[in-house]
Amino acid sequence: MGMAIFKQSNGMYAVNIVASCGVLTPDQLAGLGKAARDCGVFRLKLTTRQTIVAVLDKEQIPRLVERLPELGLAVSPYGGAVRAVKACAGNAALCPRALGDALDLGIAIQEQYLGREVPKDVKIAVAGCPRGCTDPLCADFGIVARGAGTFDVFLGGRGGSAKPVHGQLLANRVAREDIFPLLNHVLERYTALAQPKERLSAVVARLGLDPFLPPPGLITADDAQETVDEEFLAFLGGKGSDQSG
Ligand code: SF4
Repeated sequence: MGMAIFKQSNGMYAVNIVASCGVLTPDQLAGLGKAARDCGVFRLKLTTRQTIVAVLDKEQIPRLVERLPELGLAVSPYGGAVRAVKACAGNAALCPRALGDALDLGIAIQEQYLGREVPKDVKIAVAGCPRGCTDPLCADFGIVARGAGTFDVFLGGRGGSAKPVHGQLLANRVAREDIFPLLNHVLERYTALAQPKERLSAVVARLGLDPFLPPPGLITADDAQETVDEEFLAFLGGKGSDQSG
């Protein structure tokens, strides 16, 4: 595992900075802006993983990196690691379409799993409803709120590729607290089954979902009751304006 710092075409370097699923306080944003000015940062760029890239000269990298912890920020891990988690604005205070607290869950997952070593980078995305503004079906481990405190989990998706892959439904209506043992199980199985540097999506394509199914008793998934009403699904189908997060 390494840190996400990459040389750019113009000879400068990009430092990828991770916050809490893209959420910054005004003080964090102002502090990052000051640190960026002090370190001669050329540009700051928001990324699709809800991180921030700072482009600067190589010799300024240590100065910027040492300023990040005091701001509650860090350099993103990269290369054989669980990457920054994407989570939408789905919670009771923000997006009115939210069926569950996707943001809180995403931040909790990131705090627990960011940087965990795995055979090849694992991307996790959490969405507060089936609209899926964070593309959970294009993540290695995608989570979609389904209401009543439960979430559907999709496995083996892959975006950002010439051949994107949609994840497959691994578990229905998993209770929030059961997401963590399920993710532990998936990462352990992935580590055990993957060939060197094999993406999770490739392992699922090669072996199917069966090796990743949770053993009896690990989670209390409930597939007996539909929790998303038809009116809401119709609304998601195109009647509303886009409030994506
Ligand atoms: S509409 Fe988008 S931002 Fe809102 S809860 Fe659904 S997935 Fe999240």
